[in-house]
Amino acid sequence: IEGIGGWVLRRALMTPSRTAVVFGERCWTYAELASRVRRLAVRLREEGVRAGDRVAYLGANHPAFVETMFAAQLLGAIFVPLNFRLAAPEIDYMLRNSGSDVLVYGRGSAEVVRELESRPGLVIAVEEPEPGERDYEAFLAEGEDEPVQAPVRGEDIALILYTSGTTGKPKGAMLSHANLVWNTYNLLVGVDVTSEERTLISAPLFHVAALDQCLLPTLLKGACAVITPRWRVEEVFELIERRGITLLFGVTTMFADLAASPRWADADLSSLRIVMSGGAAIPESLIRTYQRRGLVFCQGYGMTETAPGATFLEASESARKVGSAGVPTMFTEVRVVGADGADVAPGEPGEVLIKGPNVSPGYWNDPEATAASRTGDGWFRSGDLGKLDEEGHLYVVDRVKDMFISGGENVYPAEVESAIFTHPAVAEVAVVGVPDDKWGEVGCAHVVPREDAALTLDELREHLQPRLAGYKIPARLEIREELPKTGSGKIQKSHLHPADES
Ligand code: AMP
Ligand code: MG
Repeated sequence: IEGIGGWVLRRALMTPSRTAVVFGERCWTYAELASRVRRLAVRLREEGVRAGDRVAYLGANHPAFVETMFAAQLLGAIFVPLNFRLAAPEIDYMLRNSGSDVLVYGRGSAEVVRELESRPGLVIAVEEPEPGERDYEAFLAEGEDEPVQAPVRGEDIALILYTSGTTGKPKGAMLSHANLVWNTYNLLVGVDVTSEERTLISAPLFHVAALDQCLLPTLLKGACAVITPRWRVEEVFELIERRGITLLFGVTTMFADLAASPRWADADLSSLRIVMSGGAAIPESLIRTYQRRGLVFCQGYGMTETAPGATFLEASESARKVGSAGVPTMFTEVRVVGADGADVAPGEPGEVLIKGPNVSPGYWNDPEATAASRTGDGWFRSGDLGKLDEEGHLYVVDRVKDMFISGGENVYPAEVESAIFTHPAVAEVAVVGVPDDKWGEVGCAHVVPREDAALTLDELREHLQPRLAGYKIPARLEIREELPKTGSGKIQKSHLHPADES
């Protein structure tokens, strides 16, 4: 195994003049991309980056993300993409936890980078560097285009992806080169990605879905990745028409936005061949809406720690198995077990366990969290409740814990609650996800104020703004005299949903 970094170099040998990446009006062939990646790797090596070192990237989707990732991986270094929606203290934690020596950042993240307490030794700005920082293009241009490829073994770590922990502290899920190779095989078994694909990558690349399900398979096949900084409905329609997008990936919110647009009825979507969703079940009404336009979803279930594809529902099965997340991917096994660890009968809910060559070896620098995420015989515990039907199709029921998903992003109530607790007016708080037409779910904070104190939703949101990413900030506030508790004093979140209020 050569490692992921070698993919672009191999493609530059096989298909040098094919277009690898499109960004705005600019295009890079595989030969150009490989040359830029080599030069960046040479410069990073000159600055002391070695195998096993961590190289972080903070910013919206941009070709520099792709180049930095492959350059780091060519050196055997570990790429650490960070969520650009996070606030400075959250990024600080991830930079420190990962021990990143290099940070490459995009222009939209300049303010967060300015507020960082722990600045890596080498900071490279994709645009408009500040004093003491390097300019990305100038830095890359200084590098010689010469052979640079460290030996990489399959078990070497290629990526650290932070996933928010239920305890409030994010955990760095490690993905090895082998994990990424096997996930790509799993995906290519289920989806016919060809060298003719034009894949739209508008979902954030720091997330495992856009990175591992879209970018990597597209580049392995020598196809074209059309990258945009963010998902904008108008632009998505425009790119489908102008660039002939064939593969479209999104989460439910994104697909719902498209269907709600005035362009939906008349846009020319005839180039679309593969429409792929992930991260959450697609509502049946949306499946039907897309069917009426001749578009059939393929969808999957997975998580950062499984790189991510654990199950997959092929497009040909999607009408027959509405609501199902599909069957285990080709090289991966899935079980559903009860509290005693034994497989439950078909139709019975239990915890989803996963095993396979795509499963992460564990969390960076966190042996306790790693141990807690496995069963004694080495199955990964998803923390999700699911059930299998008689045909072996998985249906994801709920999170075992209380996480909810807002606009495709996981929100962990414990983290939001600890931020709310820093407000002096708050005596007790519990956050639950409540249904929302636009975002799928939004947070509702149930707060018991301190004596004589008052709190409004606006005050609360203002207080949380510097502390939390916007999508984590509750959209609703319920002021309560007390919170429902169990005998042992734990808050009963199941009693906090709107339906239970009466
Ligand atoms: P992440 O690690 O951030 O990608 O989030 C993974 C979580 O998203 C899983 O543990 C599930 O709770 C949820 N998820 C992913 N895919 C699906 C799906 N097809 N249906 C329901 N929930 C899903
Ligand atoms: Mg998770």
